[in-house]
Amino acid sequence: MARLRTFTNILPQPVRFGLRKALFYGAAHRCPLCQSSIREYRAHGGGAEVLEARKVVGGMRRERDRCPVCHGADRTRMMMYYLATEAGIGRTPARVLHVAPDYGLYLWLRRQPQVDYVATDIDAARYRHIEGIQSADLTAAPFPDESFDVIICSHVLEHIPDDRAAFRELFRILRPGGRALLLTPYAMDGKGTEEEPGISDPAEQDRRFGQWDHVRIYDRDDFLHRMAEAGFEAALYEPYVADTARAAALHLNPHEALPIGRKPAR
Ligand SMILES: [Zn+2]
Repeated sequence: MARLRTFTNILPQPVRFGLRKALFYGAAHRCPLCQSSIREYRAHGGGAEVLEARKVVGGMRRERDRCPVCHGADRTRMMMYYLATEAGIGRTPARVLHVAPDYGLYLWLRRQPQVDYVATDIDAARYRHIEGIQSADLTAAPFPDESFDVIICSHVLEHIPDDRAAFRELFRILRPGGRALLLTPYAMDGKGTEEEPGISDPAEQDRRFGQWDHVRIYDRDDFLHRMAEAGFEAALYEPYVADTARAAALHLNPHEALPIGRKPAR
């Protein structure tokens, strides 16, 4: 399988996508992100001792989590569900910024009417399959004040040394009344945020933060606190509370909630 993966990685994304669609075809599920018919959601994540020890939601292994075609995970479907049901995406015009865009949510957003879509990443070259993506450093974002109705920024802030600068920038470029979906892996063991912004030692980062390029593990409450410091009205969206049956049907993680930052309307 490793050799097959190496081989398929050199193929253009549409070809890989088509291959996976055929390989994992089945009638059990239809991925709401990429619309593929699949046999099963597959296991994803796990393996890092520190993430299990600190009960890091979004970092522990999950069975039946990931679409084998678009690689959309439970958290990706949670964001899709929130956008559709709570943020009016597809029903009202919205300018959307998608940071570090994952392919499944990209495909879903591109199918929604009235979405003016902008994608960005610190290294846009890694995203050849995302049309028009632009490189940007979130701590000095090249967007005017109040540019976006919705910002989606998932599993990014735990990589950024000066995350408070990024929170401030996200707040600045959000329109009053707009909302930011700011998801990271977060610890639920109550032991606080562990970080070393200046670290540059992949082996040590892997050991302490669970991934070679992470600079912290957030405590969930502290994450919400940092959002509030930047000006956001921070709240947690809990999909199983909102609609248990729908959340279960989407195979969402019962332990995962989505931090939402609202910018007060003027
Ligand atoms: Zn999919």
